Amino acid sequence: MSYQVCLLSGDGIGPEITSVVQDIIAAAGVTIEWIPCEAGLSAFEKHGDPLPQETLDNIRRTKIALKGPLATASGTGFRSVNVSLRKELQLYANYRPAKSLKGVPAPFKDVDLIVVRENTEGLYSGLEHTVIPGVVESLRVITETGSRRIAKFAFDTARSLGRKRVTCIHKANILKLSDGLFLDTCNKVAKDYPDIEYDDCIVDAAAMKMVLNPHQFDVLVMENLFGDILSDLASGLVGGLGVTPSGNLGTDAAVFEAVHGTAPDIAGKNLANPTALLLSATMMLKHMGETEAGKKIEASLFAVLEEGKTLTGDLQGSASTTEFGEAIIAKLDTVS
Ligand code: NAD
Repeated sequence: MSYQVCLLSGDGIGPEITSVVQDIIAAAGVTIEWIPCEAGLSAFEKHGDPLPQETLDNIRRTKIALKGPLATASGTGFRSVNVSLRKELQLYANYRPAKSLKGVPAPFKDVDLIVVRENTEGLYSGLEHTVIPGVVESLRVITETGSRRIAKFAFDTARSLGRKRVTCIHKANILKLSDGLFLDTCNKVAKDYPDIEYDDCIVDAAAMKMVLNPHQFDVLVMENLFGDILSDLASGLVGGLGVTPSGNLGTDAAVFEAVHGTAPDIAGKNLANPTALLLSATMMLKHMGETEAGKKIEASLFAVLEEGKTLTGDLQGSASTTEFGEAIIAKLDTVS
């Protein structure tokens, strides 16, 4: 079977890591027709728009995209492509697993948790205004519909992966209306999943518990800003943004991406670690139904990391991006 997938290779190290990931997927036997799509600073400079309509149309058509990091210009006139993509395509669920990898230095071992973040509401609704000069307001929008669909996503994900527990993270003790609605809605959805344990935790306490003992969590579901912060915290528990994948899922499309930046300090030098993008790509393959290929690539990657002979500089190795990719390809036939 052949697939069409949009490729937003991104800025900085983006093209180097996407190219390695494309090679590994091809070597694993999955035929993909990649549709190159423009986005980010280069698209802004060329078209005056960091997210051209053509890119959105292509993703709506293929329903799937792999995205490298995009440089974001500071200041006004340049909307965040990541936020725009999520809103335009209604990618309402951000799925961020944090799993310990042998061979990757990290503060904890055997961490295996999943952060599910609501991706379209909260403070990211983009509703900000100046009340009077010197006073601004940002609206934090929480809806019952948005809360219900993200809660259902978290429980469905837990069920499909055989996970035991979902924890709703909130601040309903202070934000009684907005987080009260989020918590109430999660409580109601939980009743439809009697096979999954359910509890809730206030966000500040959850942050402390995650750094003291992350093993006590399984699947965590939360609104947008809390998810932004705690998903990065979760990545830190297992070695950082360079080794953690991310998927943005909606009813009509899915965009899989590395969450680290463009690494301008090492861009163009063949030094970047493609692990985060590769794990996002394996998540994408499983989403497409290419589960076996996804698992095979993961097994090869884990074997290379554990062996520790061919690692990139960020993992204290001396291999180039392409050498790391070649080592993974060489392992494909030896893993089951
Ligand atoms: P960054 O993640 O690009 O870099 C931080 C540090 O991590 C650097 O030392 C870099 O070399 C290293 N690093 C990052 N990814 C790596 C990889 N795959 N392999 C090896 N080392 C890696 O963060 P930054 O410097 O704050 O941001 C640079 C640019 O990236 C900015 O324009 C920012 O807006 C953008 N950015 C984009 C995204 C995204 O598109 N998802 C996310 C974060 C930052």
